[in-house]
Amino acid sequence: MGNTRAEPQHGALFLVGIGPGDPGLLTFRAAEVLSAVEVVVGYDLYVELVRPRFPGPEYLASPITQEVERARTAVTLAIGGRQVALIGSGDAGVYGLAGLALEHLERLDAAHLPLEVVPGVTAALAAAALLGAPLGHDFCTISLSDLLTPWTTIRRRLEAAAAADFVTVLYNPASRRRTVQLREAIALFLVHRPPETPVGLVSNGYRDGQAVRTTTLTALAEEHVDMLTTIIIGNAATRRWGARLITPRGYPNKGRENEQDRAEQETS
Ligand code: SAH
Repeated sequence: MGNTRAEPQHGALFLVGIGPGDPGLLTFRAAEVLSAVEVVVGYDLYVELVRPRFPGPEYLASPITQEVERARTAVTLAIGGRQVALIGSGDAGVYGLAGLALEHLERLDAAHLPLEVVPGVTAALAAAALLGAPLGHDFCTISLSDLLTPWTTIRRRLEAAAAADFVTVLYNPASRRRTVQLREAIALFLVHRPPETPVGLVSNGYRDGQAVRTTTLTALAEEHVDMLTTIIIGNAATRRWGARLITPRGYPNKGRENEQDRAEQETS
């Protein structure tokens, strides 16, 4: 540990989402924090994404499997008086480390520790932007990883999302060993949605090797999907326009009848 400047009362923990990868999508606040902290704790790949731009702090990088250890290390260092950023891709709280860190603080009853969660551009939003406007109406996100969640729970949520016509964003859709989950998810959606329902896939969004594709619900089974892919399944109104997906904000029969309501709802 090169930096001995910190005093115990100056410890603080920042849980920082660094966005999908592109430096332009790291928020201004995240950049401020990464310029100011003494230690950055993160997964190897994400450390390599930020280190060149923020050379000041000491970096503690570890492999992807060591999530719990990373969260604990960051908490321990912060309680010990250091200014620490625990980084995660996208938003640190969305299927990320922020919860692990907060749970650890909760166990230690360390509510006194200065803490800031810095939001980041999560994969759903990054993928949606690259695909156009697929999230123009109600949507939900579901992780297909059954490493930490029973498959029966994931299945129940998939069924509910499909039945309720949510645009559905699939995180962690498949890995080399885990491929049946996506096949089963497609089958569940086909019970409620037509085979030609538009689907978008983004792999390595805003990183080297970025690939953006659109397909249909039935043809999704033939696409190459891995852990660096986010999938967006359209709702009944989603349509393809060239390489883009559009989920309309309103429905044709819901037009002018209540301009006032509409004006109140518009936020942009
Ligand atoms: N905290 C992260 C999500 C972690 S779960 C966030 O908010 O984005 C990991 C999953 O996120 C991956 O399996 C993939 O589905 C998705 N993902 C993360 N980064 C991505 C990127 N750059 N392009 C496409 N998908 C990405």
